[in-house]
Parts: sequence; structure tokens; C-alpha cells
Amino acid sequence: MKILSVNAGSSSLKFQMYEMPEEKVLISGVFERIGINGSMYTIKYNGEKVVKEVPLSNHKEAFSILMDELIGYNVVESLNDIKAVAHRIVQGGTYYSDSVIIDEDVISKINELSVLAPLHNPAGIIGIKASEEIIPDAVNVAVFDTAFHQTMEEEDYLYAIPRKYESEYKIRRYGMHGTSHKYVSERINEILGRNDTKVIVCHIGNGASVSAIKNGKCVNTSMGLTPNAGLIMGTRCGDIDATIVTYMIETLGLRASEVENILNKESGLLGISGVSSDSRDIEDGIKNNDQNCILAQKMYERRIVDYIAKYYVELEGCDAICFTAGIGENSIMTRKGVIDKLGVLGIKLDIERNNVRGKEALISSDDSSVRVYVIPTDEELMMARDAYNLVK
Ligand code: AMP
Repeated sequence: MKILSVNAGSSSLKFQMYEMPEEKVLISGVFERIGINGSMYTIKYNGEKVVKEVPLSNHKEAFSILMDELIGYNVVESLNDIKAVAHRIVQGGTYYSDSVIIDEDVISKINELSVLAPLHNPAGIIGIKASEEIIPDAVNVAVFDTAFHQTMEEEDYLYAIPRKYESEYKIRRYGMHGTSHKYVSERINEILGRNDTKVIVCHIGNGASVSAIKNGKCVNTSMGLTPNAGLIMGTRCGDIDATIVTYMIETLGLRASEVENILNKESGLLGISGVSSDSRDIEDGIKNNDQNCILAQKMYERRIVDYIAKYYVELEGCDAICFTAGIGENSIMTRKGVIDKLGVLGIKLDIERNNVRGKEALISSDDSSVRVYVIPTDEELMMARDAYNLVK
């Protein structure tokens, strides 16, 4: 069965097509700068990458070109071969604790939840509409970033503000990156050969979050109402004293939108280093003894350590800590910096084993109290699995 996983952003459309249940990737790629000058797309097929520049005024046009390419590459004979399209949707609120087949009601709920994810949910709907128009016979499935975290208990998802703000205005912790946390926690259970596990997953990429997962269910996660909570990220501040926001507005005279921009786009690694949001640039700066980069990296690692320690206690111990996403999979320095600070818990790194990038690996020493792994994430595959299970 052929299943297409798509991730629609406001001006982009990433895709990956699978043969299921074999989980074989048939073709993948991304459309970029949709609706903007200089639009283009990249296709990866059989180990080769082709880039084409073409005007794209909307997502429907991108979908239409994608279908032509799928037929051109003989990935499908006709569009009827595509049985399902899995759409990444960021915010599913309390409505969805799992992926669902999309109908009018689902679209209206995604729409309603756009207030909580104004940059992401509307883009998801655009992707769904384009898919419905171009491949009308395929089943559309919504895979929510928040769904995996719906198993959190009240004491973990509530903020200590008057209850009506949760009951009437839905202000609570939802968490994001759920598809990745779910994928990695399932993979680590396969590796450990059992499901009764206590696992801490560090998804650290440009956006970053940590989750505590017990017996395959999320117990706690570091992102909150929005993705700007918890860890320090590329350009996001993560956890801060909430009153900084009103201080900036009332005392410094900034507008709310300016504060939001500072905290989301000018903070994090970029804000502290003054150099870059990209951890590769921070690592280069550290090699050149740039004091701001050294400080940014220290703060970055410290925050991850804080969350691991917190979740270690909440889980009452831990079988495995997993690193995933761009930095987790590739930054030897960050993994070392984090694990070296956990020595008090008996967690120890093996320097040789940690010398790995982008590959699944055990990186803790044999006498470490907790096993530490690098597990490359695969959100698109997780989406295709969910869609396959719903339509098979
Ligand atoms: P993601 O959002 O998961 O794509 O991750 C992006 C982040 O991964 C960026 O901060 C990159 O700098 C980081 N990254 C990718 N490759 C490396 C590498 N070889 N070493 C350090 N960081 C890396």
C-alpha cells in the first residue's frame, strides 16, 4: 500500500512516500518558497537529488506537480495507487490523543485550535485541502504533534494559574514533537526488548524538547502551550520568568508582538552567542575561544541536564536516555557536555562510542547506571505507520 506523508508549512511542503507495511521509502523531497519569488522543489529518488525551479503560487500547485512527478518517476501508475495521505498537524488540543482519519469535523477542530498554533495549524489545513482536491480518492489522516503527550496527568499539564484559564481558555501544557518522541520511544523499546520501560527522550534540533515516557506513554514533556517552553533552542528562550513579558511591555515600552519576536526569533543560542542559532557555528566559535559561544553552549547543556534530572526523579529511575534530531544525532560535543554533568547519577559516557553522527548507537559505558543512545528520529515514517494502521 502506498502512503504519502506530508508536512505543510506556510510556504513549504515536505513529502515522503512509502510502500507499507514494508516501510520502504519510494521518493521524498520538499517544495519551498511556495507563493514567494524563487520557488523551487527538490526530489530525492534512488539516491539521486534533483532540484527544479518553477513558479508555485499555492500548495495545490505544489501537490499537482508532485503527482506528475510521482507518475513520471513510475512511483505510482495512477493517483488511485495512493491510498492515504498523512498530514502533520501541530496542535490537536485535548481532542486528539491519537492520529485520526480527517473529516469535516476534524478540519473544523484543527481550525478552531489555530488560535493556539497560528503559524502551523492553518498551513496544515491548506495541505489537507490541496490533497483532497488533487487526490480525491485518498484517505487523509491527521497526525498531531500534541497527541502523544495527552497521557500527562493534571499535575504535569496544568500551570499554577486560576483554573478557569484552563477550563475556559485551554491554557495548559500540550507539548510538541510528539510524533518524534513516540517514534524514538517505540524504537528504544524494540532495542531493549520490552515495553515496561522508563525512558527520557531528548529531541534536540532547532526546536527542542525532552519527554519522560513510562511503559510507552508520555508522563511529562518540556514544551508547553506553545513550542517556546522548556529547553533553550536555536532562537527561542524556552523557560523564563513569565513576568519578563509584562516587564518588557510596561517598563521598556515594547509592543506584545515585539516581545514575542524577541523571545521566539532573537533568543536562545542566537541571543546568548550573538553569533548564530546553528549549533555548528556555536561549536566553531568555541574552538576559536569565543566567550559568548562558550557561555551559550554551557547554558544550553545545563537546561537539558535540568530536565533529564527532573524526569529521572519523576520516573523514579530510568532505563535509557535517547538523543535525537539534528543536534542530538550529530553534536558529539553537546551529548558529552550533557552526560558528563549527570555523573552524580552514575550515568557515564563512552568517549569512543559517542564519536558517532546520524546513526543509531549505544554511547554509554558498560558500567553506566543508565544506557544512553543516539536514535535518529523518523517522523515521516511514524506518520505513515499511523495512516497505514487506520486504513489497512
Ligand atoms: P533539526 O531542527 O532537527 O533539523 O536540527 C537542526 C540543528 O542540528 C541545527 O542547530 C544544526 O546546527 C544541528 N546540526 C546538524 N548537524 C550537526 C553537526 N554535524 N554538528 C552539530 N550540530 C549539527
